[in-house]
Amino acid sequence: MARYTGPVCRLCRRAGDKLFLKGERCLTPRCAVERRRRPPGVHLQSRRRLSDYGIQLREKRKARVVYGVLERQFRKNFESAQRNPGATGQMLIQFLERRLDNVIFRLDFAESRSQARQFVLHGHITVDGRKVDIPSYSVKPGEVVGWKPASQDSEFVKTMVAGMPRKALPGWLGLDTGTLSGTVLHLPEAAEVESTIETRLIVELYSK
Ligand code: SF4
Repeated sequence: MARYTGPVCRLCRRAGDKLFLKGERCLTPRCAVERRRRPPGVHLQSRRRLSDYGIQLREKRKARVVYGVLERQFRKNFESAQRNPGATGQMLIQFLERRLDNVIFRLDFAESRSQARQFVLHGHITVDGRKVDIPSYSVKPGEVVGWKPASQDSEFVKTMVAGMPRKALPGWLGLDTGTLSGTVLHLPEAAEVESTIETRLIVELYSK
């Protein structure tokens, strides 16, 4: 399935939840969910109560939208999570959190995961000093994520990272504002991940 390129606020309204896909705007009253719009194409009299299956499907879609993952990739992440010891839902979130584009977003190098994805795809990001242009690259403990030297000197990046850190850093990541790099301290634990995704529903969906 192709990547969604339409208005992203529509995805939040459809999910009935704020998915924080637009950076700063999501924290302002201009957010479409804050303005309590109805889901697109749905009128009050025609709103239906979702079945259990519909609720599970909606949660999986929400997780995919939040992390910007296509169906096939998401399924692969789920299967990897199943093969690992530990709670599958927790492992799934861990796999998604370890994506390079998510790490860039968590380090506050980008306003949103989609912007982080662009930075990675355009070759601005390095891991242990080597350029990595694969947004789904899974970071490992001890790895250092940073900017390519030429990118770090650009006005755009200087503006982007001015005033860092602007948001709380998860406990599994360390940030060096001097070198503008982040270190993966350890694998993300459930308590360290800020997420509204109910992974139990996704596990139930794939268990059918
Ligand atoms: Fe979602 Fe952000 Fe748009 Fe609000 S502003 S609807 S949180 S993408």
